[in-house]
Amino acid sequence: MISTSNLVVIGAGPGGYAAAFLAADLGIDVTLIDPEANPGGVCLYRGCIPSKALLHVAKVISEAKAAKNFGVEFVSPKIDLDKVRRWKQNVVSQLTGGLGQLVKQRKVKPIQGTATFVNSQTLKVKKTDGSEETLSFKNCILSTGSHPIALPNLPASAKILDSTSALDLKDVPQTLLVVGGGYIGLELGTVYAELGSKVSVVEMTSGLLPGADRDLADVLSKRLKIIFNAIMLNTKVVKMEETANGITVTFQDGEQKESKKEFNNVLVAIGRRPNSKGIGLENTKVEVDQRGFVKINAQRQTSDPAIYAIGDIAGEPMLAHKASHEGRVAVEAIAGHKVAFEPHAIPAVVFTDPEIAWCGLTETEAAQQNRTIKVVKFPWAASGRAITLDRTDGLTKLIIDPNTERILGVAIVGVGAGELIAEGVLAVEMGSLASDMKLTIHPHPTLTETLMEGAESYFGQATHIYRPKK
Ligand code: NAD
Repeated sequence: MISTSNLVVIGAGPGGYAAAFLAADLGIDVTLIDPEANPGGVCLYRGCIPSKALLHVAKVISEAKAAKNFGVEFVSPKIDLDKVRRWKQNVVSQLTGGLGQLVKQRKVKPIQGTATFVNSQTLKVKKTDGSEETLSFKNCILSTGSHPIALPNLPASAKILDSTSALDLKDVPQTLLVVGGGYIGLELGTVYAELGSKVSVVEMTSGLLPGADRDLADVLSKRLKIIFNAIMLNTKVVKMEETANGITVTFQDGEQKESKKEFNNVLVAIGRRPNSKGIGLENTKVEVDQRGFVKINAQRQTSDPAIYAIGDIAGEPMLAHKASHEGRVAVEAIAGHKVAFEPHAIPAVVFTDPEIAWCGLTETEAAQQNRTIKVVKFPWAASGRAITLDRTDGLTKLIIDPNTERILGVAIVGVGAGELIAEGVLAVEMGSLASDMKLTIHPHPTLTETLMEGAESYFGQATHIYRPKK
């Protein structure tokens, strides 16, 4: 069967479905192709959403434990793993089912299957029901996402997990080694540690979360040292062997010294690669760089004028909200609107405990660029709200241009940093000055005041810390 569609979106993750929905809202006839029956992609089925559901479970367990600090003691939790799994699954089904409804309401044409390019106007779709369809299009948006990088020379073993199998939560192993101290390793490591596993983390670089400023990562590391069994930095995994009880791992530290240890399970989370292979891009004019990312312009258009690319396949950062925004830009460009993808701030959030979030310019980037900045930090020990929460392990940091007083970046570590960063994103995106944030009345007592007082301290006038302007 040969059919035509004005716009075809390949991949229904947060980038793809946002694009398809906006296209439908703008009156464009749109087809959305994905192997799943409902939209969601990795984020909803095997990533952001199920991991956040499990992190919520972890948070409740950890808060219940910590309550003894203020005189409320609970007995140890009894964990019904089947029920936890069912609950997580319900969260996923509720969201993906809702998106399925929105597909119908908007009259987006869904095709369940996988697509490969035959040429710059044609796709072959292998449907999940076994049939094939040839689909021609005027424009196409490629949003096929990414997949986890595997460590080379790993034995084939069900005891070695990736983010997908770790989220299945088959059991809670007594010991778990997490390879990679990045987003996934630390988030899922936290889940397993709170459920009762002895978690060790091995990170190849000199610190956890290499992309984050060190002062933020240090606050997190301090707490992770309590909930994790071991954190090995500057250490590589050189070998893994399956044994009767688990996996024996050979480590090599910074001085090339080798050591061995056995773990019940190993989770490998060392980054992700774009899904740009095996989709027939060689049959189009689309160009791919050395790392597998599709080359695009500010409108997200590839070297093939009919084809656009968004999300993980189109470059870093590999974050769902960046994909959704790009999807909307690509659709508007296709609709003929004058648009470009040019954000000043893409927020990054690591949903550990405490959370780390940042947006705009980081201190590390400013140093790399030799850029003159003024950094102000508001420690949460001076926040009334943080004290009432018994969580003063936090820091709010503003990166300010001393010539213009413009806020260039915001970074926060502390409970709820992921929610708090949105104000920073708006401030950076709107070109706010430190005085705008200082003069904006923030609700008391809330953690948002740490942003306002951070701005006040730029002028040497923060109410709750004494730091006169030099
Ligand atoms: P990551 O890039 O965040 O972290 C990978 C870590 O593994 C790095 O610290 C790296 O130095 C380390 N590493 C690489 N090779 C290693 C090796 N051989 N031995 C030991 N350490 C090694 O990658 P991730 O955690 O796999 O996550 C992948 C992507 O998914 C992220 O880049 C992010 O974009 C996205 N993600 C985002 C969120 C979120 O937004 N909260 C959560 C999960 C994943």
